[in-house]
Amino acid sequence: MSRTVYVNGDYLPEAEAKVSIFDRGFLMADGVYEVTSVLGGKLIDFDGHLKRLHRSLGELGIAAPCSDDDLLAMHRALIEKNAIDEGMIYLQVTRGNPGDRSFVFPDASVKPTLIAFTQNIPNLADAPAAKTGFKVISIPDIRWGRRDIKTVQLLYPSMGKMMAKKAGVDDSWFVEDGAVTEGTSNNAYIVKGNKIITRQLTSDILHGITRASVLRFAAEAQFEVEERPFTIAEAQAADEAFSTAASIFVMPVVEIDGAAIGTGKPGPVATRLREIYLDEMRKAAL
Ligand code: PLP
Repeated sequence: MSRTVYVNGDYLPEAEAKVSIFDRGFLMADGVYEVTSVLGGKLIDFDGHLKRLHRSLGELGIAAPCSDDDLLAMHRALIEKNAIDEGMIYLQVTRGNPGDRSFVFPDASVKPTLIAFTQNIPNLADAPAAKTGFKVISIPDIRWGRRDIKTVQLLYPSMGKMMAKKAGVDDSWFVEDGAVTEGTSNNAYIVKGNKIITRQLTSDILHGITRASVLRFAAEAQFEVEERPFTIAEAQAADEAFSTAASIFVMPVVEIDGAAIGTGKPGPVATRLREIYLDEMRKAAL
């Protein structure tokens, strides 16, 4: 079924949606994005995603394309027009189309480009992968130094996913200076006893919206949270490991570089945090 997508104010059949070849998102990867999951036809953690969108835009000096109320209305319209019960909404804002290619940013008369589309994913919450867990490999983190900005420069993360696929596993975790930064498209954690360990927020990693909520729920559930780097060896010796992202919620990680973590099955902490996260976020969904 053809989707209805959004381009700069218009709702169009996907085959009719067009963006200029001069758009800086296309030529320079000069754009940012957000992915919001949808459960029961409602938006999960939408305020967090809006906040980070503004931060990403601000760091790059790209103007907000419209008001937050308009963005919420647009997300809701896409859910309705595409009858999404479970899935995701992808939103992208670029610096727009200056009508030619140049390294110099265009002036303010060039308006940002705003596009969005839905992805229908039945069983997003009840994903089979959450029952078996992810296997991951480690690869060097050779991304740029502003990973805190959610830009559309996703070539290396995409290559990392392909390296995982080639190795017969589900994902790659990036390693820099001997410590894990994050997954290709998720934040990375290990569990030791009652303690959840995850890298602290700097420009080395994306400040995950799911991460913020999961750590809040973890603290409320009396887990200890330690924000610091950890090594692959430490992860392999941990009781459990997991990843978080809007698209996977809390995903147990059961193997790293061929070594089983804990029992080699999804552990009780990751499983419980996934349940709490889904319960709480469904209640707060917009
Ligand atoms: N880290 C990276 C590199 C990501 O690409 C993502 C999501 O796409 C995340 C972490 C998780 O962020 P969020 O929880 O906001 O989806």
